[in-house]
Amino acid sequence: MAEARTKDYGVVIAGGGFAGGTLALALAKLTPKPLRVALVDAASRAPTKKDARGLALSAAATRLLDAVELWPALAPNAQPIRSIEVTDSPLNADLRPHFLGFDTELNTGGPSAYLVEAGELLSTIADAVAAEPAIDVFAPDSIDDFATDAFGVQAHLASGLTLRAPILVGADGKRSRLREVAGIKCIGWSYPQSGIVATVTHEHPHNGQAVQHFLPAGPFAILPLKGNRSSIVWTEDAANAKSLMAGDEAAFVAELSTRFGHRLGAISLEGQPQSFPLAFQMARSFVGKRLALVGDAAHVVHPLAGQGLNIGLRDVAALTETIVDALRLGLDIGSSVTLERYQRWRRFDSAFSGTVMDAMNRLFSTDNAPLRAIRDLGLGIVDRSPGLKRFLVREAAGGTGDVPRLMKGEAL
Ligand SMILES: Cc1cc2nc3c(=O)[nH]c(=O)nc-3n(C[C@H](O)[C@H](O)[C@H](O)COP(=O)(O)OP(=O)(O)OC[C@H]3O[C@@H](n4cnc5c(N)ncnc54)[C@H](O)[C@@H]3O)c2cc1C
Repeated sequence: MAEARTKDYGVVIAGGGFAGGTLALALAKLTPKPLRVALVDAASRAPTKKDARGLALSAAATRLLDAVELWPALAPNAQPIRSIEVTDSPLNADLRPHFLGFDTELNTGGPSAYLVEAGELLSTIADAVAAEPAIDVFAPDSIDDFATDAFGVQAHLASGLTLRAPILVGADGKRSRLREVAGIKCIGWSYPQSGIVATVTHEHPHNGQAVQHFLPAGPFAILPLKGNRSSIVWTEDAANAKSLMAGDEAAFVAELSTRFGHRLGAISLEGQPQSFPLAFQMARSFVGKRLALVGDAAHVVHPLAGQGLNIGLRDVAALTETIVDALRLGLDIGSSVTLERYQRWRRFDSAFSGTVMDAMNRLFSTDNAPLRAIRDLGLGIVDRSPGLKRFLVREAAGGTGDVPRLMKGEAL
């Protein structure tokens, strides 16, 4: 008998990346009666090009990953960030003066953030999704189009299948097809910068210290990984980044060493560096008719504070909580009432974070002397203000604002 071309689910998700995969697990595991989840991803499950990013995850994000049973597999290789050093000096300065440091503040009640390797996070999510009986994966396949009526949404896949559900979620990344089909426009711009990422091995231990060095082309971050290894996020002028990536490895390492400094001894590259175009992008609405957007489909922010996925995981936790509350009240989970609650919760918060990061990038990616003086004064003031530092640490840990229950370690 031929396979049915239309299938019914509790929820259909486009995009099985970090945000979509985590949401599928949350809805399959944490709803009062498990929802049947269809997870459609354009990429196949076979490992593709290695993702060189190290992702800084807030303590709040790790609580969500714990609730969906991912954290036990990730924790052994996750490096806690134990201190942060912020420095601001020209590229060729012999001395890198201390401007701002977070030390003991970071570890009261456990580390505020951890570094995980993007490839490992994605494969851990994919393994858990594959093992979850309530999730059906359609990959490689993609949602090209969808239509709604009073009862639900029909998602049309490139393979010819139709998936029906009360709600469709777009977790399909920054060029979201679902957002486009729904006619939701974005506010945003591209930065004239690229984000070069690479894994570096070094002679001496980092002791869990992260370093943020503000250079004229943009911030250069050294983020500690397990072992004598660090992940770098090097914001560089887009044209320079292009020629660095096209040049030979020795020239790349020489430029990298100038920025990396000498305190961790000799360095070498582990694997291939990668370069990402950088942009700020905010969807004008996070919801449409029977549609919710999460992760980069809803917002893309500058990576200087390592917040993009943390904000995306907050969407995941908030949408899960909204859906669970609606199910308990017997409400339609794809109704405008349910979706508006999610949108009110997440849109302002995401726009605020994105705008702060945009402003920081503008303030710090410049060699303008008066601006340098103002920002260095600001950093010095923060360094001497224990209350402000504690607030910033809580912010980095994901503990400020209206935190979803799953990110506070509470049950739904
Ligand atoms: C240089 C750099 C460093 C960063 N560092 C950090 C950090 O330290 N901490 C942090 O929190 N964030 C960081 N980020 C941000 C983070 O990487 C992103 O926020 C995150 O990858 C977004 O995840 P996502 O699941 O929303 O989207 P994606 O990872 O883009 O996943 C989208 C998925 O959708 C699939 N898809 C696309 N179209 C369709 C379709 N039509 N149908 C079905 N499937 C589809 C794709 O195959 C993909 O699997 C960084 C970003 C950059 C560029």
